[in-house]
Amino acid sequence: MSQPHLIGIAKLAAESGVLEEKSRVEYRDLEARRYITKCPNPALPFQWTINPYRGCEYGCKYCYARYTHEFMELRDPRVFETRIFAKKWNRTAFLNELRRVPFEQGIAIGTATDPYQPAERRFGLTRRMLEVFAVHARHQGLWITTKSDLASRDAALLAAIAANQNQVSVNITITTLDTNLARALEPFAPRPDLRLGAVQRLAEAGIHVCVNCSPVMPLINDSEESIDAVAKAAKDAGARAFWSNVVFLKPCASQVFFPFLEEKFPAAVRRYRAAFSDAAYLKGPYLETIGQRVQRVRDRHGFHSRSTGEGRHPGGENPQLQFSWE
Ligand code: SF4
Repeated sequence: MSQPHLIGIAKLAAESGVLEEKSRVEYRDLEARRYITKCPNPALPFQWTINPYRGCEYGCKYCYARYTHEFMELRDPRVFETRIFAKKWNRTAFLNELRRVPFEQGIAIGTATDPYQPAERRFGLTRRMLEVFAVHARHQGLWITTKSDLASRDAALLAAIAANQNQVSVNITITTLDTNLARALEPFAPRPDLRLGAVQRLAEAGIHVCVNCSPVMPLINDSEESIDAVAKAAKDAGARAFWSNVVFLKPCASQVFFPFLEEKFPAAVRRYRAAFSDAAYLKGPYLETIGQRVQRVRDRHGFHSRSTGEGRHPGGENPQLQFSWE
């Protein structure tokens, strides 16, 4: 079979060298054409995004970012979680890009892949970038989104960045407090209690922390009791903001999510298939129901303010819901 002619990022990925192999995951290095990417979505409060790694080994069943490996001609969505690319580090190039971002524009780290996934312990790219931020950056907003307790390793660094006239917010995603459910949904991510520990350490360091209870998935983690438990734990740990978004399933996510559903939630399969048969987004009053549910929970626990951009992902458009789960 003839090989496809590869160009751009696909060519760089094919030529990348293996840095390290673990039993499940292979790390590769990737030439970085740029570190800081313009965000094309005007609805989002940040104008620039940074993803130090391509691919994410946490392997969340609902992950919408798997399509990003398709740019490298890696079309099996499962490879997203087993072949991780670490961008080659060039401090001067990163600094030059950072200096071109205007003060009034915000930067989000971890919009497509987790910046504190296990690769960070090995390569430290996120920390290297934050070290540059701490010395040189003056931007109105810096948002970091992660599921990892490793984020609290950088608490002092983040506090130094915040002290340098930057508004720093760390969004920690916690979808459930149920350890078994979390293990099923996010098999290689840190346990919810470890993430809450990071919330507490970051909050104690004076960092603005938002807990993002997303995605909310019908018949899985969408009960008020479940969302309320996450919000209460977030409040107790010192989070200042709390938010949730409803799941959406683009084709790359569906290929992984539906086999998971068939195994773990077979009774829900038929309704999910009906709901997502012709669209990635739910339809019907469900969004309004969840919105009201989340608002009650936020009010109950005193989450009155919402920091701009918390928990936002690039694929997190606001869907029009026309489907009822009630
Ligand atoms: S942590 Fe985020 S990027 Fe990583 S697999 Fe989970 S949803 Fe995808």
